[in-house]
Amino acid sequence: MRNITIRKIDKAYYDSWREITAILRKELGDSVFRSWISHLIFKKIDGSDVVFECPSRFIKEWISSNYLKRIAKLFNQRHSNLYSVEIIVNKLAPKNTSQINSTDSAPIEQSKVLNVNSKISSPIDTRFTFDDFVVGDSNKLAYKAAKFVAENEEVVSGYNPLFLHGGVGLGKTHLMHAIALYIRDNQPDRKVIYLSAEKFMYQFVRSLRNNDIMNFKESFREVDLLMIDDVQFICDKESTQEEFFHTLNALLDANKQIVISSDKSPSELSGMKERLKSRLGWGMVADIAQTTYDLRANILKSKISKVTDASIENSVIDFLSHKIKSNVRELEGALNKLIAHSALTNKTITIEYTKDVLSDLIKSNDKRVTILEIQKIVAKYFGIKMSDMSSSSRSRSVARPRQIAMYLCKELTVRSLSEIGIKFAKKDHTTVIHAVKKITQLLDEDVEVYQAVNEIKDIINHN
Ligand code: ADP
Ligand code: MG
Repeated sequence: MRNITIRKIDKAYYDSWREITAILRKELGDSVFRSWISHLIFKKIDGSDVVFECPSRFIKEWISSNYLKRIAKLFNQRHSNLYSVEIIVNKLAPKNTSQINSTDSAPIEQSKVLNVNSKISSPIDTRFTFDDFVVGDSNKLAYKAAKFVAENEEVVSGYNPLFLHGGVGLGKTHLMHAIALYIRDNQPDRKVIYLSAEKFMYQFVRSLRNNDIMNFKESFREVDLLMIDDVQFICDKESTQEEFFHTLNALLDANKQIVISSDKSPSELSGMKERLKSRLGWGMVADIAQTTYDLRANILKSKISKVTDASIENSVIDFLSHKIKSNVRELEGALNKLIAHSALTNKTITIEYTKDVLSDLIKSNDKRVTILEIQKIVAKYFGIKMSDMSSSSRSRSVARPRQIAMYLCKELTVRSLSEIGIKFAKKDHTTVIHAVKKITQLLDEDVEVYQAVNEIKDIINHN
């Protein structure tokens, strides 16, 4: 790697920043927090200064005049050697999604419907109703099937299991929550459990450790409707799969409803046992395809009417629907950012203004880079060979760039983890997950990695 001295952020400072962000989120409220503080990236301690980076001058100025003193004070209370805060503008600062200080989630309410065993269920976001789900060609089948399952207490075998699949941010979780909310309001006696496959695994492993497996099994078998989100997570997790398979069979045999979501169709779930794949595909398999222009425009119109009184011109809606094609989550994020900025600057939302506020996002949507291009750019940047991208060498000088390339492929392309793995000489998707986790962590801890990733992104953007 290049010759840059590594200044690791002392963990104590980092932990303090974590604490401080939690305090600020409470003090300022979720939406203010997300609009401003979440853009701050903790870079380093420089003498008595806490140094942050943020992606624009506008954000820097706003934070400086409103929140800087408070942040400095909170640091000083924890570390008497720190007195002041400095913010540096770095247009290439990563989007705040990988930062510990931001979550995109709105306040989540524990739903009453989850009355089987609240320790097992995950919370339901009460905004995710059927009414708020905008239907278009790409998601019509999934929507109808989800609604059918929610409305019909009697289980119909053609719909069991209901398997929803599609790329990230296209509404799978929204539909599952909508089912739970509908049942809470209309069939309160029906027992529902909703949880992510990751949480399923976690609970399973914990119950094994605590010799509590009978309880674990029973709490699932009493349920009327079981929903497992992101089932791809347990691919390659053999014992969890085994337990899940038993749970699934027990419930299906007892004619209970199952709803599953995944980023792939059952047959594409590599690392999943054949018999489980086949059982998952028994009922209704509904695909959510990439959004169409019409759906994007309708979603924007629906969200605008909910979040603001101000009207936004059709030409701006048209512009956004053309430009932000990646997924609904990003589209929503863009709209929220636009509205927050215009409210604070008192500017009308014109196309020019939109281009200005969302320039980075629009650029990255305009240009979809390929895995091969990323590999080439990363190899060149680090002065290694293209063949090193697919070698199995664990030497740091090759392995780290390879992990960075995998991370960038996940972030900048719409390829799935397995697809990325294949392009790196058939590496397993868990290798890709590991790389993404590792680099996400290093971005916060290792200035060298942080700099490399940002420089490479810059090269990709100007390529
Ligand atoms: P997934 O689980 O498929 O990754 P989510 O269900 O979390 O995606 O959706 C991401 C965001 O986009 C959520 O805020 C959700 O409300 C919103 N969203 C997705 N599809 C739609 C839709 N058709 N109508 C309205 N909002 C949607
Ligand atoms: Mg989801």
